[in-house]
Amino acid sequence: MKEHLENVFSCKLDYWKVYHEFRKLYPRFGAQDAQNFIEFIEKNGGIHSEQIDSTDQSICKLLFQTKLMHQNYEKFHDILLIDATYSTNHFSTPLVVLSGIDENYRNILFGLVLVNDETLNTYTWVLRTFFQLNQKKPNLIVSDSDVSLCSAIAAEAKSSQHRLCSWHVARNLRKNFRFLKNDDPQDLEIKEMIFSLPYERVSEVFEGNCSKIIAYLKNKELKKSYEYLENLLTTKNKWAISQHPLIFDAGVITTSRAESCNALIKQYVNSKSEISDLKEFVIEFEEKYIFSNEIAQKSISLIENTILAQEMKRFLSTNSYFKQIEEFGEALAYENQVKEDQERDKTYLVWRAEYPNKQREVKVGDRIVCNCGFFERIGLVCRHILRICIYDNVKSIDKLRIMDRWRMTRDKEEGLHFTLFELRNVYEKKLAPLDVIQK
Ligand SMILES: [Zn+2]
Repeated sequence: MKEHLENVFSCKLDYWKVYHEFRKLYPRFGAQDAQNFIEFIEKNGGIHSEQIDSTDQSICKLLFQTKLMHQNYEKFHDILLIDATYSTNHFSTPLVVLSGIDENYRNILFGLVLVNDETLNTYTWVLRTFFQLNQKKPNLIVSDSDVSLCSAIAAEAKSSQHRLCSWHVARNLRKNFRFLKNDDPQDLEIKEMIFSLPYERVSEVFEGNCSKIIAYLKNKELKKSYEYLENLLTTKNKWAISQHPLIFDAGVITTSRAESCNALIKQYVNSKSEISDLKEFVIEFEEKYIFSNEIAQKSISLIENTILAQEMKRFLSTNSYFKQIEEFGEALAYENQVKEDQERDKTYLVWRAEYPNKQREVKVGDRIVCNCGFFERIGLVCRHILRICIYDNVKSIDKLRIMDRWRMTRDKEEGLHFTLFELRNVYEKKLAPLDVIQK
């Protein structure tokens, strides 16, 4: 075809350029290519759904979900991130990435959708199909401000909260208020106020700043600008952190997680790829995911193998023990320093590596105590104390305060109820608790 065209136009043509222009006008997947990919998904226990174009019977939208994606959505469907990415195949069809966050705070994929355009109809099809295949709706959806996508979310996920990515909103604000001058102190002050609106955490400050900004723009008779801002403020609960309704969001305020998924996809496919080239991405992404699950499992078992954790395991009920192991894991992210070293008592400062100013004091004497209030509120050992236990290589729970109510007890009639002293005897003699009781 290329040679033919070159002969016709009697000039050299860049094949890909021509092809891209052609595909932009007629986005379609190659029938065999799409079929190959569908077979791959089916063979691996995944599910898919297509929309067929009525004019030429070709596939114009393709949603697919591997078994792992389906399972992950089943477990972690509370938060759904939606983001479109481009240049992943030579058919110039955008790829819509549906993703979320697992229990380890890692990015997980829920589904990928190849679409021929980004109209309201298309996004409606994407959401409707996805919810039909999964039978569950998220509590929270985070997306960019694409008008078609937003309308589709409003219609198809009425029960879900919708948030706009704060970063995208800030970027749009930057574009729209670029004209305010940096060398005019008043302009500059207002400009900085505008740019920080999405991230402001205190509601009163947010409201105060909005009034100041609008008054300033009105005073300067910048009609377009204040109308733009007033209009944006009608959806402030979707993009301003201080205005978000208080619901579980795992701290997600931007689609940056979705974008990091996109960046990963781009390592496998580009604007010259076939649809079926996504296979490799899907396989490797899921292999890595399963592998990193194993690593997480291993680091937990490292903590559990410490003598202190083993003693806790014998002392605590199963769930309070798990709570304690969680604190143990957190302790690994902390640092410490000696504050005072007296004959009998030693005082440490303990802080999380990222927050050096938020320090807690742990006193080591007859008992090890902390001023964070965790023991008072929860009745277990806090991460700060555990940090010092790791540092000082504390092997016994003797010096730790644990509320009696969390102890492993059984029905008193069975007699399986023992004191710390008995427990230590059991532990030292390496007897099973049952042996003591039956004596
Ligand atoms: Zn503490």
